[in-house]
Amino acid sequence: MSNKPSGRTLAVRAGLETDEQHGAVVPPLHLSSTFTYAGFGQPRAYDYTRTANPTRDVLAEALAELEGGVGATVTCTGMAAITLVCQLVDPGDLVIAPYDCYGGTFRLLSDFAQRGLFRLELIDQTDAAELDRALALNPRLVWVETPTNPLLRIVDLWKLSQRLQDSDALLAVDNTFLSPVLQRPIEFGADLVVHSTTKYLNGHSDVVGGAVVATTPELHERMQYWANALGLTGAPFDSFLTLRGLRTLHARMRLHEENANALANLAVAHAAVRCVHYPGLPDHAGHALAKRQQHGFGGMLSLELAGGEPAAQVFLEALQYFSLAESLGGVESLASHPWSMTHGVVDEASKLAAGLCPGLVRLSAGIEATRDLVADVEQALDCVLAAASARDSALG
Ligand SMILES: *Cc1c(COP(=O)(O)O)cnc(C)c1O
Repeated sequence: MSNKPSGRTLAVRAGLETDEQHGAVVPPLHLSSTFTYAGFGQPRAYDYTRTANPTRDVLAEALAELEGGVGATVTCTGMAAITLVCQLVDPGDLVIAPYDCYGGTFRLLSDFAQRGLFRLELIDQTDAAELDRALALNPRLVWVETPTNPLLRIVDLWKLSQRLQDSDALLAVDNTFLSPVLQRPIEFGADLVVHSTTKYLNGHSDVVGGAVVATTPELHERMQYWANALGLTGAPFDSFLTLRGLRTLHARMRLHEENANALANLAVAHAAVRCVHYPGLPDHAGHALAKRQQHGFGGMLSLELAGGEPAAQVFLEALQYFSLAESLGGVESLASHPWSMTHGVVDEASKLAAGLCPGLVRLSAGIEATRDLVADVEQALDCVLAAASARDSALG
């Protein structure tokens, strides 16, 4: 039994049998905001829940182990986790981020930069020349999302971390889209891994949360310090639920991927679709890289419909087993219109520059039966064609 257990075993068994009082199999939920001193001048392991909480610590330890870091800081949202990482840079420092990053990240980084908390360069990180130019400016923090949202572009983490080796730049990777089951950025040289645990890690669309996994005790301590100072730590009940979701993460990720793959293959062959963005498709620009860097292609895909925004509307309204909603990573399938929803806060010019168009729809494949999801997307795409030909004959 000397071998380190696999992530799947770690996720299932996180914190089990740690209750010394009653021998509970599942770790108890500690909601208490405060903890007594054992006596005058005798603090215990915990004193106040904003600073530290036993339930939250079980989740943090599990996330650190799954990502291969030294410690994790569990936050109240994914945006809180990103806010923490922003505390690592000072005024005048340069932050490099992808121009097609998550809309909320784009807003936060842009507004912080506007207020002078740091300088910001938004670039296409899959473009070697742009990356060269930006890295020559001596950044302090390089922010990466891979795959990107919603176009699923893949960034080469190993190449990037090698190029940053001789600088004092920190590499932070938002691993929300894949989870540590399908990608472990620390193995490719990341200094920090960020999650919106709202998505796959919790997996049931009933918690908003986040985490920062650090690779050195010093970075971890700074994240812990700022989480407490800014008051961004996660709630105990949310941590408890996320820990419960985490136990089935590996099983869920397999089903998400199986469904996404089936949907991508259906959509590629349909006349209503101009193009499909899914790294699992052999002709996706990042397919070979994703194969090397990831342990699977994930459960997210987006479709560019030939008929633009009107087609997107028909498609989204015709779907039966996909709920029209932002977010992703839950057991239920979701569909969204990035142009007006997740990326609604991004200005139009930036959206177009990032390759986003009004005819794009994004799907988060849930874990429902594959044949039901495939049939549903197929009939919704057929509706798009029917609506277009009805419009054409009305015009003709
Ligand atoms: C949702 C999301 C976030 C923000 O997380 P919240 O939990 O909504 O605050 C950040 N990055 C990515 C990639 C996301 O999908």
